[in-house]
Amino acid sequence: MGRNTVQRTLIYQAVCRMHHPTADEVYAEMKKTYPDIGRATVYRNLKVLSEEGKLRRISLSDGADRFDHCLEYHNHLTCSRCGECKDIWEEVPLPKAEGPVYLGGCRVEGHTFHFHGVCAECLAREAE
Ligand SMILES: [Zn+2]
Ligand SMILES: [Zn+2]
Repeated sequence: MGRNTVQRTLIYQAVCRMHHPTADEVYAEMKKTYPDIGRATVYRNLKVLSEEGKLRRISLSDGADRFDHCLEYHNHLTCSRCGECKDIWEEVPLPKAEGPVYLGGCRVEGHTFHFHGVCAECLAREAE
């Protein structure tokens, strides 16, 4: 295995240990063990891993992209209290339609949701 492959594997493993980290968070995590690693190296490898389909990139309109090692279909919610990005596994009810759905003249073939709200942990804390 070449140096690049080793680095990519280590970066992938770091994302798996973390929970929807941003590229900066992965960089900070890698730096603890590999102080010499460069920010550009981490960013480049995250890009390659996403392009290869090994990581899912979660693009957010209101923050840095996050990376998810779980490739199974699910949605996310960003908590307005703790700022964490939570997995939503429940199916989101959609209006039923006969045949293909068109939005803005485009044929819809899938969807992902990114919700904003308050996570279960924060709700429990508030209820105490
Ligand atoms: Zn929360
Ligand atoms: Zn996720």
